Amino acid sequence: MKLNIPRGTFDLLPGQVEKWQYVENKIRDLCRSYHFSEIRTPIFERTELFQRGVGETTDIVEKEMYSFEDRSGRSLTLRPEGTASVVRSFVEKKMYVEPQPTKLYYMGPMFRYERPQSGRYRQFHQFGVEVFGTEEPDVDAEIIDLGYRLYTSLGLSGVKVELNSVGCPDCRPNHREAMVEYLATKKDQLCQDCQSRLNRNPMRILDCKKESCRQATEKAPRMIHYLCSKCAPHFEAVKEYLDELAVPYEVNTRMVRGLDYYTQTAFEFVLEGKGGGSLGGGGRYNGLVQEVGGPDMAGIGFAVGLERIFLALEEQEITLPVQTGVDCFLVTLGSEAKKYGVTLLKKLRESGLSAERDYLDRKLKGQMKAADRIQAAYVAILGDQELQEKKIGVKSLITGEQETIQLDHLVEYIRNGRKS
Ligand SMILES: [Zn+2]
Ligand SMILES: [Zn+2]
Repeated sequence: MKLNIPRGTFDLLPGQVEKWQYVENKIRDLCRSYHFSEIRTPIFERTELFQRGVGETTDIVEKEMYSFEDRSGRSLTLRPEGTASVVRSFVEKKMYVEPQPTKLYYMGPMFRYERPQSGRYRQFHQFGVEVFGTEEPDVDAEIIDLGYRLYTSLGLSGVKVELNSVGCPDCRPNHREAMVEYLATKKDQLCQDCQSRLNRNPMRILDCKKESCRQATEKAPRMIHYLCSKCAPHFEAVKEYLDELAVPYEVNTRMVRGLDYYTQTAFEFVLEGKGGGSLGGGGRYNGLVQEVGGPDMAGIGFAVGLERIFLALEEQEITLPVQTGVDCFLVTLGSEAKKYGVTLLKKLRESGLSAERDYLDRKLKGQMKAADRIQAAYVAILGDQELQEKKIGVKSLITGEQETIQLDHLVEYIRNGRKS
C-alpha cells in the first residue's frame, strides 16, 4: 500500500529547507535587534482558548479548526494561529506583574482546515510578534516597521502597508449602528456570509472581497469617521510615527482583518503586482488579555505567513544567498588511508569545517564524481603512499588548482581557502 502525505501539507526537502533556514535566521536576527524574545507554546491548546481568544464569529473558529477529543474526552485544537496561545501564556505565567512592556515573538506551524487551493495549506507556518503592556502609538508603528523590514531585508519589492483603525468598544457601536442602518435596504445585495455578519459584526462586510458586497458598501460609513477622542489621536500618531520611520503606508478604510478582538490599529502587509495580495498583518487587541482571564492590559501584534514569503521570492526571482555543498571531500585510496581517513575527517569537522567522504568503497573516479555531485569546494586525496610520507593531495574544484601539502596542514589549508 502506498501512503501519501495528507492533503494540504508538504515536505520540506534538502534544497528547499536551506532557504527556510535562511529566512528563519533572518527573522531571529531581526527580532533580536528589536529586542523581542522568543516564546514557544504547545502545538495544541484547549479548544475553548481559541473560541474565546480568536472569537466565535470568525471563519477560523466557525469552520476551520482542527479540533479533536483526547482519550480523556477533553476537546483540544491544533493551534490555528499564534496570538491566543501567547496571550494565554502571558496570563498564566503572570508575565503582567513584570515591568512592561513584554515583547515576544514566535515562529512555527499552524493548522487550519482550509479548502484546498493554491498557496493555502492545512499545515502552514507563521512568524508573529506580540507586545503587551503599552498603548503608546509608537509601538504600533515600530512593529509595523519590523514586519516591513523583514520583507525588504529579503530583497522583496512592492511591499506596502495598509492601515486602518477599527476603533474601540466606546466608539464602535456608533459605527455599527450606522452600518446596520445603511445596509438595511441593501441586504439582498450581500453574499451569504455578509448577511449573517450583518447582525454580529457588520464592520467585516467592508472587508468582503465579493464584487456585489463591495458595490453595496461603496458609500457605507467608515470607522475612521466615528473614532472617539481616544482612538482618533491614536490613529493620527501611528501615521506620524510611520512617516518618521519612513515606512510607506496607505490608509485602507475597508480593511478590518478577520479577527474579532482587534481595537484601534489594524494593518496588513500587501504585495503589489503579479501574484500580489496579503502577506499577513495584525493589529491592536486591547481587550484580549482580559478576555483570556488576565488584567485589563493592552496588546498589539502581527502574524505573517512564511509560505507567502517564499511564493513572493519566487515570483520576484530572488535567489537567497544560501550555502550549499561542503568545504572538503576526502578521497582515500588503500586500506591504511581509508582507516586514517576517519580521523582526518573528524579533525576537519571538529575545526568547524563541513566534510564528507565516500561510504560505498568507490574507486577514485567514483569518489571524485561524488565530490562533484555534492559541490565540494576542495577534494583531499590520501593514498597509502602519501600517508607514509605524511602528505596529502588537495584540489580546488572551483579553480581546478592542485598541489601536495603536509598532511597536518590540511585543516588550515581548507580553512584559508574557504575565506578567500
Ligand atoms: Zn474609540
Ligand atoms: Zn460579502
